[in-house]
Amino acid sequence: MTSKTSKPAKTDTLLAHAGRDPSSFHGFVNPPVVHASTVLYPDTGTMVSNGQRYSYARRGNPTTDSLEGALRELEGAAGVKLANSGLNAIALAILSCVKAGDHILIADTAYGPTRYFADTVLPGLNVDVEYYPPALGADIKALFKPNTTAVFTEAPGSLTFEMQDVPAIASAAHVIGATVLMDNTWASPLFCQPISLGVDLSIQAGTKYIVGHSDVMLGTIAASEKAWAALDTLTGAMGSHVAPDDVYLGLRGLRTLSVRLERHQKNTAAVLDWLKNQPHVGQIRYPALETDPGYSIWQRDFSGASGLCGFDFADGTSQQAAYAFLDALDVFGLGYSWGGFESLAIPVRLKGMRSATPVDPQLQSVRLHIGLEDPEDLIADMAQAFDKAFS
Ligand SMILES: *Cc1c(COP(=O)(O)O)cnc(C)c1O
Repeated sequence: MTSKTSKPAKTDTLLAHAGRDPSSFHGFVNPPVVHASTVLYPDTGTMVSNGQRYSYARRGNPTTDSLEGALRELEGAAGVKLANSGLNAIALAILSCVKAGDHILIADTAYGPTRYFADTVLPGLNVDVEYYPPALGADIKALFKPNTTAVFTEAPGSLTFEMQDVPAIASAAHVIGATVLMDNTWASPLFCQPISLGVDLSIQAGTKYIVGHSDVMLGTIAASEKAWAALDTLTGAMGSHVAPDDVYLGLRGLRTLSVRLERHQKNTAAVLDWLKNQPHVGQIRYPALETDPGYSIWQRDFSGASGLCGFDFADGTSQQAAYAFLDALDVFGLGYSWGGFESLAIPVRLKGMRSATPVDPQLQSVRLHIGLEDPEDLIADMAQAFDKAFS
């Protein structure tokens, strides 16, 4: 957790240096990948007084310290915990701030598996789950109950990309002492710093942009001062642990986060600029576009945009045509997850995924992850797929 690097002023410098201490490891630039369980003590005195930094690897080692320390600086957090997937980070973060008899408000546009966790696990713990429309800002207070202890946000929302007024929600929630959580995977800690917006538990699917190469599952939870002790206790009690090789790949990914995201953003702008003029395309879903309903909030709270976006097909497009378009893609892969170097596409399926906001059952929509390929090849790929699907 501790990092001995002096705090650099600018984010890019921080990404290169945070969480590293070469002088502790014979001058090697990177920390070692520590494969460990047992830690030896020099004597019983040290052992019974818990008098050394490491006690047992489940509680951390120099490799996890390095990534947690770097993220702590990047997120401006009191503490950071790693989790074995993004969903595991969400589950642990929620469990750290609700108990039997509590009420939790969750954005209707939260990541699908977040709903699955909330709907399958929380009722059994006697936690009352309520979904709210993402457009609610300060008005969310109308939904507060005497037992509301947590408010979960995600911006932009999964699959449909609605922005949320997170600072307004956080201010309202703090009046009643509730903990505010945010799934910030879309922007990464580079383009949005949730704790500075008033969030108490800032969550990343590290699987996406932090790892960045589609080869590791990882989650991260950054906690404010207020939320840290409960998170530390819960994760310690649950025996949460991430394998050192995976932690190391997260740390390696973090070093290039800025240059990768800059390119994802640039490629996405190029692709969307072409896409918006295509005859079979309706609404484009990406808060960094001036025409997007979430643009002003994005501009206020975020410092950049990533490569995840969506578009609706023009009204009247059949599911058959939409799926034919996806099947005709060649450079874009058809697959879940995102945040790696490669471009991906999926059909948007909202059935069972919304309960507080209306869904148009006729809607045919696609989610795209714009990767690091040449955008001209991505555009050409979509052009031939439109031709095939609509000929
Ligand atoms: C992918 C994703 C997650 C879950 O991450 P995993 O590592 O796949 O468990 C959580 N939230 C969002 C917004 C995601 O896109």
